[in-house]
Amino acid sequence: MTKPTTTNTGTPVESDNESLTAGTQGPILLHDHYLIEKLAQFNRERVPERIVHAKGAGAYGELVVTNDVSRYTKAKLFQPGARTESLVRFSTVAGEQGSPDTWRDPRGFAVKFYTEDGNYDLVGNNTPVFFIKDPIKFPDFIRSQKRLPGNGLRDHNMQWDFWTLRPETAHQVTWLMGDRGIPKTYRHMNGYGSHTYQWINAAGERFWVKYHFKTDQGVDYLTQADADRIAGENADYHRKDLWDAIERGEFPSWTVHVQVMPVAEAEGYRFNPFDLTKVWSHKDYPLIEVGKWTLNRNPANYFVDIEQAAFEPSNVVPGIGFSPDKMLLGRVFAYADAHRYRIGTNYAQLPPNLPRAAEVNSYSKEGAMRYFYNDASVPVYAPNSFGGPHADPALAPDGGLWEFDPTMVRAGYVEHAEDGDFTQAGTLVREVLNDDQRDRLVSNIVGHVLGGVREPVLSRVFEYWTNVDPDLGKRVEEGVRAGLDGAPTPPPSQG
Ligand code: NDP
Repeated sequence: MTKPTTTNTGTPVESDNESLTAGTQGPILLHDHYLIEKLAQFNRERVPERIVHAKGAGAYGELVVTNDVSRYTKAKLFQPGARTESLVRFSTVAGEQGSPDTWRDPRGFAVKFYTEDGNYDLVGNNTPVFFIKDPIKFPDFIRSQKRLPGNGLRDHNMQWDFWTLRPETAHQVTWLMGDRGIPKTYRHMNGYGSHTYQWINAAGERFWVKYHFKTDQGVDYLTQADADRIAGENADYHRKDLWDAIERGEFPSWTVHVQVMPVAEAEGYRFNPFDLTKVWSHKDYPLIEVGKWTLNRNPANYFVDIEQAAFEPSNVVPGIGFSPDKMLLGRVFAYADAHRYRIGTNYAQLPPNLPRAAEVNSYSKEGAMRYFYNDASVPVYAPNSFGGPHADPALAPDGGLWEFDPTMVRAGYVEHAEDGDFTQAGTLVREVLNDDQRDRLVSNIVGHVLGGVREPVLSRVFEYWTNVDPDLGKRVEEGVRAGLDGAPTPPPSQG
């Protein structure tokens, strides 16, 4: 037997089909409460979409620790044999909610671990590096990748203008224009914590770490031509692939590794280890296996579980901390702030964000949509004389410790011996990519630049790639000039 339709407050309703009117041709009556509730609720069904990473897909899973890394961290989720429930949200960056999954873009790789010490969020990407290294540039960077103010169009000239004026973008742009810039599916890409984090062991010793989630499905990609075709056929291609694989019982997995750097080695390392535009070479800091991370459960409700999921790098647990990576420190503020705006002050009480820790004894109270609350006998202030929760001074300070020069400055990172905006991008082109991959890199760059880049940005594009690698620069310039000679229409003007 079907259940009766009710209003939001449980009263049975008399019709799903006809509104209450004055006669068959008369006006609709305002006291048709069910109609009004239905229309009003519909108007409010959406929450603001994320300003970045709006389009995504997600699933629940589990981390199982297979190795012993307890000499580096006391974090309970990384102790041998530990099993921790997890949630992931994969996403593109610049596109809006309905944008095609196969556009060339980095992919978000945001992971939440529901640990007994509270939620631990690792809000990474499918790339080990990023375009910029200081959070003050983040809004500028994102705007340059989104839409022009006048005509509302995306604009390659604006993208390349920003990239070429900020050459620290070169490593990430090389990566983006290569094969990995369009993964075959979300299952066929690696995830990287990207930032440098801190691990703290039981003896209080500190280490710098980088996380690497290596796909067990193998890294695979789409060509630009295939991605363009799929974008027109099925904008949700990657979301569907992830859902279908899990429904089939084909649970995707990743082997989790870390690179570990003793704190004392940071200052002398050939690259500044806190600069998000650089990697730590695997040759210097080999990957250490931690465990297996598997996705095994689709969301019960996309909006509730994935759209309302709130990942925040500020969520760390004892044994894990931050580092002098300025982008990380900026994100520690920005993500929680974005959630307060997007899904409300009490977003931590929503199902995907609800900690599985035995107790949540926060002194937070009230605010819109508060659901859980402390017993009336718990004081609303600290300190108190009535047995309310009290902080534990024995815990390490929030986010761990590090030493720094206390002088206030506005300055870039201290350059280490082999730092430089183009060094690691050049290594990627010359030493990692093979001939076929380099050919596709040239073709992807040329195609993108021909999508509307014009002087004075165009000359800077050639200089940029020549700085990455002289031969690459030459090939890009030749390809673009040949394309422009044959171009039937001039590139669009900035609206
Ligand atoms: P290695 O030769 O030890 O590592 C190169 C790494 O490059 C591989 O392990 C792989 O990373 C990654 N890679 C392979 N093919 C591609 C591709 N088509 N596009 C992007 N990345 C690819 O050298 P180093 O560690 O000294 O790094 C050399 C360069 O490799 C760096 O400048 C950086 O551009 C790139 N790289 C380095 C990573 C690191 O963490 N050290 C990670 C990714 C890229 P993976 O095993 O993660 O798939």
